[in-house]
This record gives sequence, structure tokens and C-alpha cells, in this order.
Amino acid sequence: MKRSDVLAHLRIAGYHDDTRSFVRLYTENRVSLAVANAEWRRGGKMKAAGVPCTCRECKDNQQLANRSVDKPGALQK
Ligand SMILES: [Zn+2]
Repeated sequence: MKRSDVLAHLRIAGYHDDTRSFVRLYTENRVSLAVANAEWRRGGKMKAAGVPCTCRECKDNQQLANRSVDKPGALQK
């Protein structure tokens, strides 16, 4: 995994309060604890600020939500 990807995943782990992923990413990659913690906190702040998450799972959920919003409009025709 590229360093930038590791940092992004640490941020996403913070966003989801996912300590298991955080520990796995930290132990499997060459990242200092200070850097890992900084990304974790950044993810938590993004969530607190209402910023949408960038992980694949959340993007898929957002797309599904958009689709179910479209449906009633299509049926009202
Ligand atoms: Zn997410």
C-alpha cells in the first residue's frame, strides 16, 4: 500500500471510529504513531464537521440513497 493510501485509510478509520482497522494499518505499515494519530483525529473532525466520508462503502451507500430518492419522482409521473 502506498503511504498516501495508508494515511487515507487511517483517516477513514478515524471517521468510523474503527480502532481495529487503525491498529492493523498502524502495525502493518511504516507509519509513526504520531502521524497515525493525527490522521485518526482528522477523520473524526471530518465526521464532526459533516464532511461526507470518502471510503468505498460510504460512497456506495450514498449512491443507493440517491437512487431511492429518485424512485418516487419516477413513479409520480
Ligand atoms: Zn466511510
